Amino acid sequence: MHDLVIRNGKIVDGSGTTAFNGDVAIDGGVITSVGAKAGAARREIDAGGLVVTPGWVDIHTHYDGQVTWDPYLSPSSWHGVTTIVMGNCGVGFAPVQPGQQEFLIGLMEGVEDIPGSALSEGIKWGWESFPEYMNAIEKMPRVLDVGAQMPHGSLRTYVMGERGARNEEATPDDIAKMAALVRDSLRAGALGFTTSRTMLHRAKNKDLVPGTFASEAELLGIGRAMGDVGHGVFEMASDMVGADATMEWMIKLSTETGLPITFAMAQVDSNPTGFRHLLERVRNYNANGAHLVPQIPGRPTGMLMGLQSSLHPFIAHPSYHAIAHLPIDERVARMREPQVRARILADEPAAKDPVTRYLLTNFAKYFALGDPPNYEPARETSVAARAEREGKTPAELTYDLMLERDGRELLYMPFANYSDYNFDALREMLLNPATALGLSDGGAHCGLICDASMPTYMLTHWVRDRSRGERLPIEMMVKRQTSDTAKFYGLWDRGVLAPGMKGDVNVIDMDALRLHPPQMVFDLPAGGRRLIQRADGYKYTVVSGEVTFVDGKATDAMPGKLIRGPQPAPRAVD
Ligand SMILES: [Zn+2]
Repeated sequence: MHDLVIRNGKIVDGSGTTAFNGDVAIDGGVITSVGAKAGAARREIDAGGLVVTPGWVDIHTHYDGQVTWDPYLSPSSWHGVTTIVMGNCGVGFAPVQPGQQEFLIGLMEGVEDIPGSALSEGIKWGWESFPEYMNAIEKMPRVLDVGAQMPHGSLRTYVMGERGARNEEATPDDIAKMAALVRDSLRAGALGFTTSRTMLHRAKNKDLVPGTFASEAELLGIGRAMGDVGHGVFEMASDMVGADATMEWMIKLSTETGLPITFAMAQVDSNPTGFRHLLERVRNYNANGAHLVPQIPGRPTGMLMGLQSSLHPFIAHPSYHAIAHLPIDERVARMREPQVRARILADEPAAKDPVTRYLLTNFAKYFALGDPPNYEPARETSVAARAEREGKTPAELTYDLMLERDGRELLYMPFANYSDYNFDALREMLLNPATALGLSDGGAHCGLICDASMPTYMLTHWVRDRSRGERLPIEMMVKRQTSDTAKFYGLWDRGVLAPGMKGDVNVIDMDALRLHPPQMVFDLPAGGRRLIQRADGYKYTVVSGEVTFVDGKATDAMPGKLIRGPQPAPRAVD
């Protein structure tokens, strides 16, 4: 008698091999047979006409705070994600000295746009070291598995105090201390170390993330400590300028330790073919012993501009500023008054920062997202193109669009990977074997981006719906977010449906699978705001053999665990 049998499904097993029909049996949380007809079970799921896949492994999230109060880690768990890796981009909440908590919250609020009040109220601090943080997480029940990475921002602040926070150069003694703590954390089960080297990531007070200007000595000192332990991914948010552009330290470090270094790669409008050159360089370096992994998203990092968002084109207009504090319905009523509209539209935005200014006025990249949300819209549907046809200014059209749905409408602004107004560049990156799929940023950018739904989108858009270019096979899209991401983080016990592997499974109705439009809700601690997005079509999600969601509803099962370090492959599939 099996614990659970999923019968007669179309099995896309995560390895990339062609889908086949059959049963999946799970016993004691572990898969015991795949494909062959399975005997009776205490619980049976009829998967006739449905697709059966491994649970998704999302390696780029920022749930470091939410993980301490929300056992569901939504929205990711609503999208078939059964394993998340957090602590990315150099920001997180451990290690922490007494008195540094608010500093780390300000850092997270500034960099990842997670409301500071929600973090302050939500996080029950009960740790100082990173291993203590992991212990605290481990004690909580949760619906999915969680992997932790140690962030440079907190580590540097912990070891160097004010000097670290102010980005002063680390002394050899500082580096030795940081290296020792990284070693301890990896040995306690951290899956990696992360850092920020981008000018875009700033704390609430506009300071850059501690570690942004870390010297080669500091990066190598920490990286070699990882090499001593023998596991861990080195993740980095970077603009790939300066010393990062030459990739010399990354080549040196990854060659020496054999450990991967991953960084975000994107197609940028200022150099739309640059990514191709970067991929070519990575291919050459890796052929000579380096281990560099450009991380890519499955759709453009999509900013969602609306009246409740962190950014929208009128946010820096003085006349808007005068009513910005009003509750949304009152604000919408005022904005509908012709004089108010005229005044706001006549204002010059007060934003001085050129990046912000560009984002707020780049109307050729603004689109009505619609329902179902269209993340690959044609150029002629941009706000700029539509405004021209309608004889309005782009700002006027944006203003009117944002007032639709009682002022809840969101305009989609693809921030990168959309230079050609289609996904052909992204498709090229997805097909490149050197890249890893990530960057959903689950749990972060609460007021502007909701890409935690990306795992669902890989199937709805890339496999099924794409009409403006070639689609991609389901076998490949499933592999990209299961075995590929799991192995990259050393999690050889999951990501493939095979005997001996962890019983993490999605049962999906491909015909019914759809994304709802994103919406702003105020359900974080202290009423904090966040964008969420729901999906239909996940019939069942299973974690360690326990059904966690049925038709999008949680079952209250809490089989999720903290992952401690790399997980070996089961013998059966060695
Ligand atoms: Zn990130």
